[in-house]
Amino acid sequence: MAEKEGVGAVARRRFIVGFWAVLPLWLVVAIFVFVLRVGEPLPFPRHRLPAEPYQPDRCTWTCHNHGCRHAPRLPDFLSADDGLFGQTVHGLHWLGRWAMPSRPQQGYGLVNLVLFCLLWPALMWGLYLKALSQTLALRELGRRLRKPGHSGTESASAGEGRDVG
Ligand SMILES: [Zn+2]
Repeated sequence: MAEKEGVGAVARRRFIVGFWAVLPLWLVVAIFVFVLRVGEPLPFPRHRLPAEPYQPDRCTWTCHNHGCRHAPRLPDFLSADDGLFGQTVHGLHWLGRWAMPSRPQQGYGLVNLVLFCLLWPALMWGLYLKALSQTLALRELGRRLRKPGHSGTESASAGEGRDVG
């Protein structure tokens, strides 16, 4: 039952898994360095926050830059000052004061960076790695089930149980 796999095949598979695992990290670093080195003008359609006039029927950049006076379209539990948005900002300010008591605004910026540029992407990368490992495990299981002479009962008795082939 145990299949012998060549050393070359194992090394090749490890290389492919490692490549896909670190690809998002390399892409982030490469894009970051590219943007830092490209100089002016920046390769974005926008170089600064646009200034638009106020429109009574819809939000514009005036709302972003100076605060929105329109009736909110999202429910209060999401968008209100005491909803998810307001509580998140309040929590970030609180953490900023805790992190840098003498410079709370800089602490707020620091906490924003740590949360949204470090912890959240790390969580997303962890979930990506989990999805990658499950994809490879399912692919391997499918490969074993498709082998000639396989009765299809081995994996079920081993508790893996699903036919993915
Ligand atoms: Zn608005």
